[in-house]
Amino acid sequence: MKIVGGTWSNWSGGVSCKPREIVAPKDEVELAVAVRKAEGRVRVPGSGHSFTPLNATDGTLVDLSAFNGLKGCDPERQLATVAAATPLWGMGSLLHPLGFALKNMGDIDRQTLGGVVGTGTHGTGRTLGSFSADVASFRLLLANGEIIHCSPEENAEIYAAGRTSMGMLGVMTEIEMNVRPAYKLVEKHFIHPIDELFRQLNGLVEANRHFEFFWFPYADAAVCKSLNETDANAPMRHSAKTLQARGEHRTADEYAFAAINEVLPYMPFMLGPVHRLFSSLMPGKERVRWSHEIFPSPRTVRFNEMEYAVPYENGPDILREIVEMIRKRRINTGFPIEYRTVAADDVWLSPFYGRESATIAVHQYHRVDTTELFEACEAIFKRYGGRPHWGKRHTRSAAEVAELYPKCEPFRVLRRKLDPEGKFLNDHLRGIFQ
Ligand SMILES: Cc1cc2nc3c(=O)[nH]c(=O)nc-3n(C[C@H](O)[C@H](O)[C@H](O)COP(=O)(O)OP(=O)(O)OC[C@H]3O[C@@H](n4cnc5c(N)ncnc54)[C@H](O)[C@@H]3O)c2cc1C
Repeated sequence: MKIVGGTWSNWSGGVSCKPREIVAPKDEVELAVAVRKAEGRVRVPGSGHSFTPLNATDGTLVDLSAFNGLKGCDPERQLATVAAATPLWGMGSLLHPLGFALKNMGDIDRQTLGGVVGTGTHGTGRTLGSFSADVASFRLLLANGEIIHCSPEENAEIYAAGRTSMGMLGVMTEIEMNVRPAYKLVEKHFIHPIDELFRQLNGLVEANRHFEFFWFPYADAAVCKSLNETDANAPMRHSAKTLQARGEHRTADEYAFAAINEVLPYMPFMLGPVHRLFSSLMPGKERVRWSHEIFPSPRTVRFNEMEYAVPYENGPDILREIVEMIRKRRINTGFPIEYRTVAADDVWLSPFYGRESATIAVHQYHRVDTTELFEACEAIFKRYGGRPHWGKRHTRSAAEVAELYPKCEPFRVLRRKLDPEGKFLNDHLRGIFQ
């Protein structure tokens, strides 16, 4: 948790707050006391990698960093129970010695397990769900201090709703994940001219366990990335300490990327050449690594982001429309648009609820105003029934969310039942879910 002089801020620096109290309970008993005693609103951040004000509060902020580590493993059923504030960079080192690994991961490993489950964070892969979809059960501390276990058999409604609930139903203390035998992946990058890519897209998504692409919108080719299982040799695994450190140090390339993003807003004539240059430099060499080492990449250049999940079949049309709009309006951006796919799930507030999806993410350097790019993209996402990623910028109202998420109203009813005083709400969440 990043707190400087009593002020908490998120990764991008776009959200900050000054809580009245910061508590750091050591176990469930202390946590229950802290929540019961708290005056005003209680928020429970993970590592603060959400771009939306999910964690903003002037009440109590709970630092869960003591809730870290492996709690149990059931090798027969391929289940691992992990304390909720365990950082993702630590999970590979906990699971690998047991012969297991997470089924999928996203772009980075800086977040906590509770944080990625709390927002429905995802990677890419047509048959693979989000972190929330892989939750088998969890322990939840309610507003009244009671701790319950939630699974398909026990407190089934809370299990269905709680797997993506942004900390509104209570505090998850332990999360049991469906895992699989440890595996290695081979990563390949290739550049495809856009028209060719769209012709082959379904085939590429089908043929690869993980496929995604990055399109710098003023370039005419996209950088494609695939990951597939392999038995080829991988270098020896890194220690947890090395994995923790590797996401934090900026390379010379990243300094150059940041410097260009600083000046790009004043040099709009450079958009085309810069985007072509970035596309040509982005692909890395083919490599083989254990899954938890190869999924995440360092992201040291700060940005803000909007991402929507859209019906899988509409993904290409929506992306083309976004790029045409960016070019027509000459909108400045120094980042690529990221395109991924995610399987449908049954988690009530999941952007993937009952719908196989493509996800489209637009980014803006942290010192560049996001308004023009994000408003224009959101207008397009809206026309296609896009559902926002809860951890990424959006401006959707309570009524719109109720229309987009079939289980929104049952979620609100359940939330009111579990937390009638709205202890776990803040202004942002109250506006959408009260
Ligand atoms: C550089 C970068 C890359 C990213 N890449 C991806 C990506 O590839 N895919 C993707 O989908 N998203 C991605 N994200 C978004 C990110 O994964 C989510 O916003 C995620 O929620 C952040 O996790 P966190 O631990 O930082 O949680 P926070 O942002 O601190 O919190 C998120 C929510 O989880 C809740 N929460 C946290 N812990 C608990 C708990 N124990 N009990 C109950 N609620 C809890 C919080 O209350 C809050 O509502 C990225 C973000 C950044 C900055």
